Amino acid sequence: MTFILTDLSLISSSFTNHQHDSSYSSFLHCLSTTFPISYNLSQLLHTPNSSSYSSLLNSSIKNLLFSTPSTPRPLLIITPSNPSHIQASIFCCKLHNLRVRVLSGGHDYEGLSYRSSNQKPFVILDLSNLRGVKLDSEQGTAWVQSGAMLGELYYKIAHEIKSFSYGFPAGICPTVAVGGHLSGGGFVFTIHKTLSQNAVDLVNHWQDIAHRLPEDLFIRVIIQRNEMGEVEALFNSLFLGGDLDLGLNEEEDWGITSYSSARVWGMKYFKGNFERLATVKRRVDPGDFFRSEQSIPPLVLEMEGEEHGLVESS
Ligand SMILES: Cc1cc2nc3c(=O)[nH]c(=O)nc-3n(C[C@H](O)[C@H](O)[C@H](O)COP(=O)(O)OP(=O)(O)OC[C@H]3O[C@@H](n4cnc5c(N)ncnc54)[C@H](O)[C@@H]3O)c2cc1C
Repeated sequence: MTFILTDLSLISSSFTNHQHDSSYSSFLHCLSTTFPISYNLSQLLHTPNSSSYSSLLNSSIKNLLFSTPSTPRPLLIITPSNPSHIQASIFCCKLHNLRVRVLSGGHDYEGLSYRSSNQKPFVILDLSNLRGVKLDSEQGTAWVQSGAMLGELYYKIAHEIKSFSYGFPAGICPTVAVGGHLSGGGFVFTIHKTLSQNAVDLVNHWQDIAHRLPEDLFIRVIIQRNEMGEVEALFNSLFLGGDLDLGLNEEEDWGITSYSSARVWGMKYFKGNFERLATVKRRVDPGDFFRSEQSIPPLVLEMEGEEHGLVESS
């Protein structure tokens, strides 16, 4: 108990310049009493004054557009080393009305795992320490924690299972984490061209123009064999200058994301699956606790929101 109080006082002092000091103290107190007693809090909670804060934050920022002094910073970075820490963090964030950004590998193109564009106070839940991979070749299953990188998963499968019958088809970038990949992955505009569709000329032409393209436009080419065994060139393209350009979520009066505002970008991105995803969200997170500027909203009608008491205290 003595240890926790000492640790908490160190952490609280880093918030002294903040206008909501007492609510931060109360938030930190909540974490200190909810986290299991045997853990060293200073290794799990990183305030802006902690020496670890900047390096942790900077290592998450894979899109340098969001590494600027004006990018909103989290109030706290939490680095759970045990699933119970996640439960405790969510409990306290909910109690104190703080937004949570879940971060696994940090490759989100819009940076939604480590920044917030709406200026609301938020906390990063950095899952990079939770990267266990357990393989069961008899059952043909794998249990993989959210922070494990795709490269780590491929490596484990190759080294622990001495059989060519098993593999896991996922992204080509080894540092993308399993958490973000499985919960959405990378939607990139791709054009496939086979040799009979002029792939050679196109690749030649691409080499001439690639270095002259605007900096905001990224086009890369991957040459591979397709399922029919034909050689093909894949042109992946991404507009880097866009910032949530498909649309932003808005909140309803009772405090959850408006389905109709989210539908504007959601239908472009997920097409017919958007409504199905919103129906699932309604079942698993009707209060819309896990949200971002482009998160799936719960499919809740306005009247129902009031009936179900889905009014967030502000
Ligand atoms: C350099 C680079 C290369 C890439 N290469 C490929 C590729 O080869 N193939 C491909 O398909 N995609 C690729 N992508 C896209 C990548 O798969 C997605 O951006 C993916 O969402 C990144 O996951 P992450 O965990 O690394 O990122 P994060 O930024 O940590 O997470 C991405 C999103 O998922 C959410 N999230 C993360 N973990 C959880 C969790 N446990 N629960 C709920 N939500 C969670 C975050 O909040 C965020 O919104 C690439 C991206 C980059 C930047």
